[in-house]
Amino acid sequence: MKITDVQAIILRQPAMDVSKADGSQDALLIRIETDEGITGIGEVDSLPPVVKAIVEAPPSHAIASGLRHLLLGENPLEIDRLWHKLYRGTIYYGRGGPAIHAISGIDIALWDIKGKALGQPIHRLLGGPHRTAIRAYASTLMPDTPQETSQVVAALVERGFTAIKLGWGPLGRDADLDVALVRAAREAAGDTIELMVDIGLGWSDADHAIRQVRRFEPYRPYWVEEPLWPDDVAGYRKLADAVETRIACGEEDVTRWGFDQLMERTRVDVIQPDVTRAGGISECVRIAHLAELRGVAMVPHSWSTGIIKAASLHVIGAMAKATFLEYCVQETALNQLLTVERFPVVDGMVALPEGPGLGIEIDEEVVARYAV
Ligand SMILES: [Mg+2]
Repeated sequence: MKITDVQAIILRQPAMDVSKADGSQDALLIRIETDEGITGIGEVDSLPPVVKAIVEAPPSHAIASGLRHLLLGENPLEIDRLWHKLYRGTIYYGRGGPAIHAISGIDIALWDIKGKALGQPIHRLLGGPHRTAIRAYASTLMPDTPQETSQVVAALVERGFTAIKLGWGPLGRDADLDVALVRAAREAAGDTIELMVDIGLGWSDADHAIRQVRRFEPYRPYWVEEPLWPDDVAGYRKLADAVETRIACGEEDVTRWGFDQLMERTRVDVIQPDVTRAGGISECVRIAHLAELRGVAMVPHSWSTGIIKAASLHVIGAMAKATFLEYCVQETALNQLLTVERFPVVDGMVALPEGPGLGIEIDEEVVARYAV
């Protein structure tokens, strides 16, 4: 089998509120075509026009090339060799950031092709599944007031979620409001629901973070996520060592080398590689193994469309130990309609896809409506 085309398609809803941290308003769809009529689908959650340029750029020289040039004519089943060819072929401008993001979308599409060619879901090709369904945590933005927070949490409990994360929004602007919002969330959730709080890089330094996490303790957050900038590794280490509450981070980090350093230097409890950014399905499996060695939980970051939900489910399904799927509940068209599959939540659980490859179908009418 040979790769005949690699497409990077930008999808974007007509009205965007770019002041919100909601990446489900646009998307970058990867499509890899083969000479045997099998098409692979992938997604990249990054800045779509930048990723499109990295896919399409003509080569400059042996270690500075666009990805499409490196893939045409290759056998799509040789995923690990191709991952390393792309890594090496972009090393002058890559190693991190959008080049690895773009490689992630390619890697997902290659796994989709391999699964379709072999008639198996990806989680089985990875050696799983260790489970057929995974507990979902509902993931949404933190509302502006405690009253709205109560309503949002109550509605998610009503939908059957047993774990809920609220993030970004006003968190970090006012220390007392942070506590009031978390208190409102706990009161609305009751005692049995797990609550995660994503500070969205909102706290200034480790000392402030330590004080705030201690103020959250009566409301028992399952974890507190991204209180500090990702490069403040000393701050994360000070915080993680000081508090009992789990600290989570890593959605901006990439590759096995990056996460090895992150775990070594921050000593956080939970890492959150995003399968559409951190290096794809292949790299997230490698990162999961590194985390297991260190006793760190890996709960992939997963926002936006059904493609990332499916890709994350395959990775999680193949992990010996796993806790949650991040389940974005944003009511954007791209989150809710891009895949034909809707990933229903039943008793707080989401089933692993069982069809070949990713086990999803793209709604081509949605692609046609939002492609730019
Ligand atoms: Mg986050």
